[in-house]
Amino acid sequence: MKKVTTVCPYCGAGCKLNLVVDNGKIIRAEAANGVTNQGELCLKGYYGWDFLNDTKLLTPRLTQPLIRRQKGGKFEAVTWDEAIRYTAQRLKEIKQKHGPRSIMHTGSSRGTGNETNYVMQKFARAVIGTNNVDCCARVCHGPSVAGLQATLGNGAMSNSIGDIENSKCLLVIGYNCADSHPIVARRVIKAKEKGAQIIVCDPRRIETARIADQHLQIKNGCNMALVNAFAHVLIEENLYDHDYVAKYTEGFEEYRKNVADYSPEAVAEQTGVSAQQIRQAMRTYAAAPSATIMWGMGVTQFGQAVDVVKGLAGLALLTGNLGRANVGVGPVRGQNNVQGACDMGVLPNEFPGYQSVTDPKVRAKFADAWGIDVNQMDTEIGHRITEIPHLAIEGHVKAYYIMGEDPLQTEADLSLVRKGFEALEFVVVQDIFMTKTAEQADVILPATSWGEHGGVFSCADRGFQRFEKAIEPKYNVKRDWEIISLLATELGYPMHYNDNQEIWDEMRSLCPLFYGATYEKMGELGHIQWPCTTLESPGTQYLYADNRFDTPTGKGQLFAAPWRAPAEVPDDSYPLVLCTVREVGHYSCRSMTGNCAALQTLADEPGFVQMHPQDAEALGIRDQQLVWVASRRGKVISRANFNERINTGAVYMTYQWWIGACNELTQENLDPISKTPETKYCAVKVEQI
Ligand code: SF4
Repeated sequence: MKKVTTVCPYCGAGCKLNLVVDNGKIIRAEAANGVTNQGELCLKGYYGWDFLNDTKLLTPRLTQPLIRRQKGGKFEAVTWDEAIRYTAQRLKEIKQKHGPRSIMHTGSSRGTGNETNYVMQKFARAVIGTNNVDCCARVCHGPSVAGLQATLGNGAMSNSIGDIENSKCLLVIGYNCADSHPIVARRVIKAKEKGAQIIVCDPRRIETARIADQHLQIKNGCNMALVNAFAHVLIEENLYDHDYVAKYTEGFEEYRKNVADYSPEAVAEQTGVSAQQIRQAMRTYAAAPSATIMWGMGVTQFGQAVDVVKGLAGLALLTGNLGRANVGVGPVRGQNNVQGACDMGVLPNEFPGYQSVTDPKVRAKFADAWGIDVNQMDTEIGHRITEIPHLAIEGHVKAYYIMGEDPLQTEADLSLVRKGFEALEFVVVQDIFMTKTAEQADVILPATSWGEHGGVFSCADRGFQRFEKAIEPKYNVKRDWEIISLLATELGYPMHYNDNQEIWDEMRSLCPLFYGATYEKMGELGHIQWPCTTLESPGTQYLYADNRFDTPTGKGQLFAAPWRAPAEVPDDSYPLVLCTVREVGHYSCRSMTGNCAALQTLADEPGFVQMHPQDAEALGIRDQQLVWVASRRGKVISRANFNERINTGAVYMTYQWWIGACNELTQENLDPISKTPETKYCAVKVEQI
C-alpha cells in the first residue's frame, strides 16, 4: 500500500490530497495539508477518484485509438501508428488546401496539466502555424482575464486563497462558492468567524447569503447598473481614498461622469434592491480596514461581463484595496487548471506567460527557441472557441483538434454548436471518456487520466502545485503531450520530450513571469504563486505590492460603462429568465464525477429546474414533477424543484446533465471583448408534460 500526494482535479481551489493505492487500485482519498486547503476536502475531493479503478462507468473510458473514416460511419480500432499517421495526413491536407487558420485547437483546463497545455499551444503555433488555440476560460472567466488585464495589468486573482479568511470585508458578487469551490467557501466562513462583514449580491439566497451581514437579492441581469451605483456611492458620499486615487489611478474624471446617473435611487427598481441597501453595502466596504471582492460566473457569463469586471476593479482602486495582504480582487477560477491553461498560452492572443502574439519581439523569441522561421508564425490573434460554430458554418474553419473539452455539452446554444460540428471536415478528440463531443469525432486519441500521470497545475490564486502519478494506466493510452509530440513529428516538426520537467524548463526559459518556479522549488514549498521571476524568489502572495500596476502607464485604470440589457428578455411567450448554475456534487460536463459511484448517488438525470413555488403554482406545476423547459432554441425535459431561496420570475438549471441539457436552451450574445456567451440569462417557459 502506498500514499501518493496529488492535487484535486476538479475546481480551482487546488486542494491537496493523498490517494491511497493498494495493488494498483485507489482505495480511498485523504485530505493532505496543502497551502490552500489546510487539511480539508469537499465531497469531490474525497469521492472523485473511483473512475480510475474502472468500476461501473456511466460513460465508457477510451481505451484505444479509434478512427471513423467516413462521416456517419462506425469507429474502427487502430494502432497508435495508424492513428497518428492518419490524423497527421488529414491535418496536413487541410492546412495545404485551406491554410493554417482553418485548423482550431483547444487545450484543457482539467487534469492534464500545464506541461501538456504548453505543448498543445506550441503544436498550434510552431507546427500548424496558427494562433487558433483556446480553452474553456472563454466560456467562464475570460472576462475576468480581459477586464483585469485592462485595469490592473494581470488577469488573475490579486491575492491568495489564504488571504480571504483574514479580510475584514468580503463583497461576494455572482459567486456561489459553497457549490463551486467548497473549500474556498470554508475560508469565507472562517473570515466570518474572525469578524469580517460579508456582503452578498446574488439573485438567490445562496449558502453564503445565509451567513451574510447584507444580502442584496438583485434581479438577474443588472450587474453593470449595480456596480456603477456602488461607484456612485463611493464618490458621492466621499468614501473613496482621494490620496490613493490621485497617486495610483487614471481616468477618475471620466469615471465620475460615467457613474453620475447611477444613483442608488435611480437603479433601485432595476436592480431590485433599495437605495439604502446599496448605500449601506458601500459604506461597509469602504469602512473596512481590508476588503476583498470575489466573483464567479454570475459576473462573467453575460454579454457585458468585461465591463462589469473593470467596474469591480474600479471599486478596489477607489478604496485602495489592492497591493497588500488580505484585500484585492478575486475572480475564483472554475476548473482545477483553467488558470494554468491561460498561464501556458492556451489563448489566441497570448503566448505562455501572457506575452502578446502581436508583439514582433515576442514572436521572434519563441520562433528562435522553437527553431522555426518567424515569418511562418501567425501574426494575428486566433479564433476563440465560441466563434467556431459560425466560422465552421461559414467555411473558415475546417478542422478542430479538441483536447479534454466537451463543447457539445458545455457550450451555449447546442443546436448551433451541432450545426458547426456538422460543417467541419475533420474533428480530432483527445480525451479519457467517450463524451458527447467524442461521439462526433473522426479520430479519437485516448489519453491518460489524472491519477495516471503527474505534472503541474495552477490553482485559482496563481499558485503552481505539482501533482503526482498514483497508478499505471491500464489501457492502450498515452500522455497528452506524448500524443501531441508524435503528431508534430509526423507532420515534419520533430518533437521529443523525456518528461514533464523538460517541458516545464523549456516553458520557464521563455516566460519571465514564471522563470523562478522550478520543479525543485515547487517540491520544497508546495505552492508557488507567480510572478516568480528569479531562482531566489518564493513567489508572490499578492500583486501590485508597491501600488504599481502592470498597465502601460503603471497606474490602475478607472472604467465605467453604461448598463446594457441582456440580449433576450422575458416576454409573453417566454416569461421566465433561465440562469445556469453549479451543482456541488458534480463538475463541469460530469464526465469524471459522473463516473464516481458516491457522487452519482447525489443526483440523477434529468437534472432539476429550480423554480420559485409561486411561479410553479401559477403554472399548475407540482414539486418534483417532470416538465418541459423551452426557449427559442430548444426544449428539454427536466424535473421541477421548488426552491424558496430563489427569486420569482427566474429558473435555474445546472449543466451537467445529458437528459435535460440546459445548453439546448441558452444563447450566445457574446461579450464583445472576451467573446464569452451570456449563459446566465435567456428567456424560457416551463410547461407541464
Ligand atoms: Fe477542493 Fe475543489 Fe477538489 Fe473540492 S473540488 S476538494 S474544493 S479542489
